[in-house]
Amino acid sequence: MSENHQISQVFDNHGRPINYVRLAVTDRCNLRCFYCMPADGIKYVPKKELMTYEEMERVLRVLTSLGVSKLRITGGEPFARQHIMSFLEKVVNIPGMNQVHITTNGVLTAPYVERLKQLGISSINLSIDTLDRDRFKMIARRDEVHKVKETFYKVLEADISLKINAVVIQDKNLEDIVLLSNLTKEHPIGVRFIEEMPFNGEGAHYPVLKWDHKRIISHLTDHFGPLIKIQDQAHSTSSNYRIPGHLGTIGVIAAFSRTFCGSCNRIRITSKGMLKTCLYDNGVLDIRKMLRTGSSDLEIKQEFLKAFANRAPDGFAAEASRSGKVTESMSEIGG
Ligand code: SAM
Ligand code: SF4
Repeated sequence: MSENHQISQVFDNHGRPINYVRLAVTDRCNLRCFYCMPADGIKYVPKKELMTYEEMERVLRVLTSLGVSKLRITGGEPFARQHIMSFLEKVVNIPGMNQVHITTNGVLTAPYVERLKQLGISSINLSIDTLDRDRFKMIARRDEVHKVKETFYKVLEADISLKINAVVIQDKNLEDIVLLSNLTKEHPIGVRFIEEMPFNGEGAHYPVLKWDHKRIISHLTDHFGPLIKIQDQAHSTSSNYRIPGHLGTIGVIAAFSRTFCGSCNRIRITSKGMLKTCLYDNGVLDIRKMLRTGSSDLEIKQEFLKAFANRAPDGFAAEASRSGKVTESMSEIGG
């Protein structure tokens, strides 16, 4: 990876730097997580409507010319897309892309961990809502937790920076808040609990979100006693803590309460090439269309700049500005 490539920085209309892109390389997935899609899955985007790897690479090069230096590969499940490793080999070599991170469900990932280390992948976020086989089967609707655990230990062994993402799901994995936090006792990892959002392919699961960030923290404090607040990294979406005596850290992501919008530095590109300047907007620029109708890099760059100059101040405003309600699956967006 080309470290510290110095390029100009772009700011949005609210003075926030834009330097982080999350790219959903597919909408396909081998799991059916309750909070992400219905049991029988979502209607996948036809293959020809997915961005090709060549198209994605071109867009990333345009973005680095605008000062974007951090990339997260997500999906759907990134390792469910064929030839993902060849794509990763290309993106780690894009000048200016100083960090490449991956979010994965870990089911297919274990065989690739060594190569990911060699490529210099900056970190892996592993989505694990529970380590219990029965609860995993109920939440992810597949019997695959053993493969996720294998990936967990391989990533630790390879010494790649590791974070666990766990969605806190009412009545489904509440006992796992403490069980997953206990992983930080001996492992130098970050375990982050995410508020459930209505991106599940069918609409809101609850009239009111009972397990918000405040309740998660108070549940942790009831069990572990006072938590030590640690310094959050710039633009972090998680508020982070350490349990006294533990090696790793725990964090809470107020993804539904949207407490972190004021410092949001990220944009998203969906698997079919829509730019989202906020997770809650409906897509603000059809990048794939521009690519397929002969736009030049300069034209694409100008459209990006226009979109950045029209960014909603926060997720509530972005949600209010969209035509329909949030019902799409996170699998199309990438989280
Ligand atoms: N398949 C990969 C995985 O699960 O890690 C990458 C894509 S997944 C959409 C990215 C992240 O979004 C995961 O950590 C997942 O738990 C989270 N996520 C999905 N649906 C969500 C929802 N409705 N609310 C909160 N987080 C969600
Ligand atoms: Fe697949 Fe990730 Fe969605 Fe689960 S959260 S269904 S693993 S895309």
